[in-house]
Amino acid sequence: MIEKIAQILCELISIESISSNSNLDIIEYIEQILASSDVTACRVPSPDGRKASLLATIGPADRAGVVLSAHTDVVPVEGQAWTVPPFAGVIRDQRVYGRGATDMKGFLAVVLSAVPRLKAAAQAVPVHLAFSYDEEIGCRGAPDLVRALMQSVAPPALAIVGEPTTMRVVRAHKGKVARRLTVIGRTGHSAMPHRATNAVDSAVAIAHALRGFADREVARGGDAAFDPPFTTIHVGSLHGGSMVNLVPERATLEYEIRTMPGRDAGEILARIDELVARERDRLRDSAPEADIISEELSAYPGLDTGADAPATRLVARLASDTQPATTVAFGTEAGLYAEAGIPTLVCGPGDMARGHKADEWIGFDELAAASAMIDRLAVLLGRPSADWMRE
Ligand SMILES: [Zn+2]
Repeated sequence: MIEKIAQILCELISIESISSNSNLDIIEYIEQILASSDVTACRVPSPDGRKASLLATIGPADRAGVVLSAHTDVVPVEGQAWTVPPFAGVIRDQRVYGRGATDMKGFLAVVLSAVPRLKAAAQAVPVHLAFSYDEEIGCRGAPDLVRALMQSVAPPALAIVGEPTTMRVVRAHKGKVARRLTVIGRTGHSAMPHRATNAVDSAVAIAHALRGFADREVARGGDAAFDPPFTTIHVGSLHGGSMVNLVPERATLEYEIRTMPGRDAGEILARIDELVARERDRLRDSAPEADIISEELSAYPGLDTGADAPATRLVARLASDTQPATTVAFGTEAGLYAEAGIPTLVCGPGDMARGHKADEWIGFDELAAASAMIDRLAVLLGRPSADWMRE
C-alpha cells in the first residue's frame, strides 16, 4: 500500500503545479486515476479557463456525505537551497522528498490511492473529493468549488481538509483579508513640493494609522488557544517614488488582517475604508485628480468548529488523536466549507514546519497514518446507520 501511495506522490510532485502555472496537467492526471476506478469527476474551471478545481462524488449523492479536501497547487522553489531536485519525487530513508510532499500532495496521494477502497465502501454514505487550485495565493479556487459542491449534492455532514497537521485534529484558525492600496498624487520638482501632492507621504500616514488599529486589536485581547491570541493587522509592503529630487506621484501599500474567530473583518475594513476616504479627501484639496484605489488580493474566513462538536469527536476517532482538538496559525480552505454550513476539521499527514521550505519531505509512517484514517472512514461509509456521525 505504502509503495502505491509513494508512487502516486512522486508522480504528483513531478507535475510542477506551482500556483503561477496552469494546474490542468495535474487535474488530468487525477482524472485518469479516478477514471481507472470508474469514478467520473467534474471540473470547476477558473474564470480565465487556465486552471480548474475537480469534484468527484463516490456513492449516493443524495445523502449527507463526507468531503475530503486538498489543494493541487504548490509554492515556488526559487531562492531555496534544495539538495534534491524539487520536482522529481525522490525516495530516501523511508521518506518522499519534493515540493508539495507535505503541503499537500501527500494527503492527495493517500486519497487517490484509496479510491478503489472508497468506491467499494461508499454504499450508504457518499464521499466527495474536492481538489482546488490557487490555495497558496489566497484560496482563490475554493469558493467556486464549494459552491459547485453545495449545488450538486446533499449538504455534506463533514469535511476533512487534509493540510499537514501531523494528524492532529485542528478545529480552528484565523481568517485573512489582504488588500493593496494604490495612492495617486501629483508629481513635481522637489524644490517646489507645495505645488505637488506626495503619494509616499500619504501611504506612510496610512501605514502609521494601520499600526494604531493593530495596537487596538492587541488591547482587545482574545483567546489563548491562538498564537498570538489577538487579531493582527500588518503592512507587508510599501513602495513609492523613484528619485530624491522628484515628488512621488504614486505609492502602493499592501496590508493584511488576520482575524480571530468571531472578530468581524468587515468592521475593521470599514474603519480602514473611512481612514482611506479621509486621506483621499485631503489629497484632493491640493490635487483634484488624486485618488486612493483599494483592491482585494485575497480573503478567506476563519474556522471555529466546536471542541466538543460531533464532527470534531468523529475526526479525532478516525485520526486516532486522543488529545484535545487544537488550533493552527496558518489559514486553510476549511473556513469556506464551514461557512457553507459543513462541520469542518483540518487533519492531514506531515508537518507544516517542513512546508514551503527546501528539501520538503514526508515520511512513509506519516502517509501510512493518513491512509489508516481513510480506511477507518471507509468502514463508516459502508454503514447504513442514519446516525453514523455520532457513533
Ligand atoms: Zn497547503
